[in-house]
Amino acid sequence: MNPFVVIGGDAAGLSAASKLKREDPDREVVVFEKGRWVSYAHCGTPYFVKGEVESLVDLTSLSSDEIEERGIDLRREHEAVDVSTDEKTVTVRGPDGEFEQRYGDLLLATGARAAEPIEGGDLDNVFTLHGLDSAARIRALLEEPSEFTVESLGGGGYVDEDVVRYGDRTPPETVAVVGGGYVGVEMCEAFDAWDLDVHLFQRPDSLLPEFGGSVGERVEETLAEEGVEVHIGTEVEKLSGDGAVEEVVTSGGSVSVDAALVGVGVRPNVGPVENEVELGRSGAVAVDRYGRTSAENVYAAGDCAEARHVVTGESAWVPLGLTANRAGRAIGATVAGEHTPVGGVAGTAVVKAFDLECGRTGLVNEEEAREAGFEPVTVTVDTRSRSGYYPGAAETTVRLVADRGTGRLLGGSIVGEDRAAVRINTVATALESGMTVDEVERLDLGYAPPFSPVWDPVLVAAKVLNGKL
Ligand SMILES: Cc1cc2nc3c(=O)[nH]c(=O)nc-3n(C[C@H](O)[C@H](O)[C@H](O)COP(=O)(O)OP(=O)(O)OC[C@H]3O[C@@H](n4cnc5c(N)ncnc54)[C@H](O)[C@@H]3O)c2cc1C
Repeated sequence: MNPFVVIGGDAAGLSAASKLKREDPDREVVVFEKGRWVSYAHCGTPYFVKGEVESLVDLTSLSSDEIEERGIDLRREHEAVDVSTDEKTVTVRGPDGEFEQRYGDLLLATGARAAEPIEGGDLDNVFTLHGLDSAARIRALLEEPSEFTVESLGGGGYVDEDVVRYGDRTPPETVAVVGGGYVGVEMCEAFDAWDLDVHLFQRPDSLLPEFGGSVGERVEETLAEEGVEVHIGTEVEKLSGDGAVEEVVTSGGSVSVDAALVGVGVRPNVGPVENEVELGRSGAVAVDRYGRTSAENVYAAGDCAEARHVVTGESAWVPLGLTANRAGRAIGATVAGEHTPVGGVAGTAVVKAFDLECGRTGLVNEEEAREAGFEPVTVTVDTRSRSGYYPGAAETTVRLVADRGTGRLLGGSIVGEDRAAVRINTVATALESGMTVDEVERLDLGYAPPFSPVWDPVLVAAKVLNGKL
């Protein structure tokens, strides 16, 4: 039988490859990765830039030896440039030139790439953060040249030599962060740790808009308290400078900077298959509940693929880590003969801004809920994270949205300083099982003073929402 071929050697790709080899050790599995890094955590890169995570290798999970022990034929620096679903071949460009690889089953696990729509985005000292090489370049720029060595990044032999250019430069004093989504917010904290003057520019009138209004306001307050200059409702028109970036030109005037991080979203990487399989409205690959594309024996998983939204039942594109790992693993099992659904997405996400934690899941904004055919009712409730008499209790704001007609919970967000983010998992679980607000209100959640008040913050909000319904 022709091999299981995987394009992309990270979360989705290696999860699939590993699962298939576990279930069917005799099947040949070949993974093509265009870069040098494999099995790495994008999610930890802001904390590597910050200096909280010391070395790049700490952000990797499987070593070359472990991948080999699993029996996976991994080819780094091999880019899949084309796929023929008629011939069942992948055209691969590697260090020794181009060749055709036949497949029995194929998985597209090519992830996403940072969007770079800003004029001046190609100036020196302007970065996006996507992958370990970009994280290495930013950290190299922040280090004092006298202290910088490639080895200090802890990347083994995988760090791109280009990083030396950045390590030799004078570290910046003022940095612009363009985009107030989760990467922008995390990077404000990272740059602040290096004592930079940080300016955050956000075109919409709220930070983290997908978390709902009250979360954005709290994050804005926290960033401002920490010394970040937050420019809300401010569109960056261009970055300008002579060689390196010197100025951010915005709808509200110009600000002098000596570095910029552009974090304005990602786009799915579908290049090798874009003319071979159906794409969804988002531009990511359309798949069924087993991750199968419109082409026979071709699957897609992770940031390059859509998934079914558990609340709307429609296809949605939510490029996040668990979705990728889970879908990859499920596809590995399916290819081995054990049909396993990839699972739905609720858009559950958590992020922190300094000490403030935020979580969101499902449909948080009423407009979005109306578009999906619901009649949304929303409550926002301020509660405490622990019993009032127990040290460390912090204000915790819960927002819940439900459908008036059915009483079904549609989504929610939580913000606060004391383990607020992980509380969103209760709401996510309720969404997955299609619970009504009434049912959520009666959930038997844990209580002891160090962890929660008697009525957990989610239960308090459900009680108030039930009253309103
Ligand atoms: C800065 C940052 C922070 C994040 N933080 C979080 C977080 O806190 N929580 C969370 O849930 N998610 C987070 N994410 C998102 C999460 O990292 C992704 O959802 C996840 O990595 C997706 O896995 P993937 O395997 O689909 O894609 P990727 O991890 O992007 O891997 C795709 C791989 O395919 C390779 N590739 C692409 N095209 C080709 C080709 N043609 N041939 C060969 N190889 C190719 C790429 O080089 C890449 O290595 C973050 C992302 C970023 C950028």
